[in-house]
Amino acid sequence: MPSPAAPLHIAVVKETAAHERRVALTPDSAKRFAKLGVRLSMEPGAGEAAAFADAAYRDAGVELGVPWAEVDIVLCVQPPPLAQMKGVKSGAAVIGMLSPQQNLASLNAWAAAGLDAFAMEWVPRITRAQSMDVVSSQSNLAGYKAVLDAAAEYGGAFPMMMTAAGTVPAARVFVLGAGVAGLQAIATAKRLGAIVSATDVRRAAGEQVESLGAKFVAVEGGESGETASGYAKEMSADYLRQQAALVAEHLKSQNIAICTALVFGRRAPVLISRAMVDAMQPGSVIVDLAAGQGGNCACTEPGKIVEHKGVRIIGHLNVPSRLAANASALYARNLYQFCAAFHDAESGALRWPDDDEIVQAVRCVHGGRLVHPALQTEKKQGEQKQGDQTS
Ligand code: NAD
Repeated sequence: MPSPAAPLHIAVVKETAAHERRVALTPDSAKRFAKLGVRLSMEPGAGEAAAFADAAYRDAGVELGVPWAEVDIVLCVQPPPLAQMKGVKSGAAVIGMLSPQQNLASLNAWAAAGLDAFAMEWVPRITRAQSMDVVSSQSNLAGYKAVLDAAAEYGGAFPMMMTAAGTVPAARVFVLGAGVAGLQAIATAKRLGAIVSATDVRRAAGEQVESLGAKFVAVEGGESGETASGYAKEMSADYLRQQAALVAEHLKSQNIAICTALVFGRRAPVLISRAMVDAMQPGSVIVDLAAGQGGNCACTEPGKIVEHKGVRIIGHLNVPSRLAANASALYARNLYQFCAAFHDAESGALRWPDDDEIVQAVRCVHGGRLVHPALQTEKKQGEQKQGDQTS
């Protein structure tokens, strides 16, 4: 009699990237996976930095220690080096926030080892995939934390306070970019009692900003800044000039600026110039959530808090990791939803149909090759550069 097939084996790495405190599995998501009949293992201590103890995982049925040769799926936050998955078999798949364009060397090494790879930040923004949207789940927390970081650095109070000794004015908070992070920043600053305003290039953002009780400050009429997929597009030079004049004038009266503006696949737009920082009141604070993508403020130094003429500019990287427990819980749930959507109950395996919209959007390595169209362009540009250098 043939022996029954081994259950699907999902392993979780202990993150090794600097300042990464998140983990791709929580005891709660482990219990959900267990209901699918999955075998789970993880590197000991993988949840420690996010305050999830090994014992809690063990109680949820997770094996501590990964027998790599038996693993089918590897869950991670950031891409693990191949050496960390020593002996992993060809055909296994890595799922995580892989920053594929910045990690071509890793992806090529995985392709050579026969691994598949799925980049969760490329999950399309369609209704079916909402519960797998890692960008939204992490940005939401980043927007919240940005306001707390600003409050901690700012030498004043957020709410107006009327006391016998006089009135403390409410802080004025200006949010640049009203997407997922920006809207959460607005809501958080409002809850703390600040007077909040925001700007965005997408007209639809205006209504959302106002529904949170904040003032929308934007260039009137003209272009719509929204693409068909709901992201911002790169704006014309004329629009950016008008926007810069508007931002310059508005910023002078603000105490806090929270920068969250991004354009998909491009360097972040610079919305606050050095001259605009010069014109801000000393003691003001800028939090630049776009620091990792080049920054929305010309004075931002990624990973640092700097001071320019009395204005503090906070350029923390990987802000979601600063709320590691919540960020891990949401991220782990996103991963579970992704895996569950492609779980075949009959065979117990994960099946990735070639014609599925989500699979096409996130699969970046398959069958020994980089398969995503965005990576083909990167590869061609790399080859072109090499050609230019040798000719
Ligand atoms: P994002 O992180 O790419 O950008 C952040 C914000 O910066 C966006 O609102 C963008 O319009 C803004 N921006 C870009 N250039 C700017 C400039 N020059 N000046 C001012 N603002 C600028 O965007 P995001 O937060 O990921 O979301 C963008 C949109 O997608 C939002 O409308 C969001 O509600 C929507 N969304 C939809 C789904 C879904 O349908 N499943 C999921 C998540 C988000």
